[in-house]
Amino acid sequence: MRWKDRRKSDNIEDKRGKSIGGFAAVGGTLGIIIILIYTLLGGGNISDVLNNFINNENNTTPYEETAEEKELSEFVSVVLADTEDIWTEVLEDYGYQYDPPKLILFSDAVYSGCGIANSQSGPFYCPGDKTVYLDLSFFEELQNRFGATGDFAIAYVIAHEVGHHVQNLLGILDQIQEIQGQVTQEEFNEYSVRLELQADYLAGVWARYIEELGYLEEGDLEEALNAASAVGDDRIQKQTQGYVVPDSFTHGTSEQRSRWFYKGFNTGNLDNWDTFNIDEL
Ligand SMILES: [Zn+2]
Repeated sequence: MRWKDRRKSDNIEDKRGKSIGGFAAVGGTLGIIIILIYTLLGGGNISDVLNNFINNENNTTPYEETAEEKELSEFVSVVLADTEDIWTEVLEDYGYQYDPPKLILFSDAVYSGCGIANSQSGPFYCPGDKTVYLDLSFFEELQNRFGATGDFAIAYVIAHEVGHHVQNLLGILDQIQEIQGQVTQEEFNEYSVRLELQADYLAGVWARYIEELGYLEEGDLEEALNAASAVGDDRIQKQTQGYVVPDSFTHGTSEQRSRWFYKGFNTGNLDNWDTFNIDEL
């Protein structure tokens, strides 16, 4: 993607290397309230997040960015700025005014409006504070563990999380939160898959605008499709446990994820985005 010397977003906050004390203050909610966060990968509610945090240590050393990290954080900032421009334009056509999310960069662990999160959550969106949380070390994992390489793989991840913000603005996340608790876990997983494929579609719409603006480079689209495929539930389950349990899918298969991304790319607006009212996903 062409991104050098382009506009960076003002909505990024850098919390890398910041200490997070006061863990006990939120410990009382453990096991009682489950607050959903919207992730790129499977899993992700506050109780998982808190359990993962217990071994984390406070770190008061000021954070020093390497040259590579600096380049990456600048890239993230340009991608976020692009989402701001694009969603303002697209949503205007549907009568909505776009209010952009914040994006917080963190390392190790961070307080979010959805509880304490750490790097193991992967990138996520918290609807409570309308913020995308990102630990840049995830992108190493994306490349090394998931085999998704290239800058547009990273751009896809950010565009997917911003897609959850668009869903939040349009009331979809509220509907999902309402459904939770009224249906069985298996049924809820099905809703979750539809939600996640819709976020992939929205990432595709974003990519379409990047193309129309002339910033898409040779191979970018393949990088995004490959990344969407790499984070499919079936592929991850096969990698981590050696077998696949479709009922437990929360994000969709590799094939579904890349196909819905591509559908968004081909459509370029919200006209085909409804993943909730079709039988075959
Ligand atoms: Zn997601």
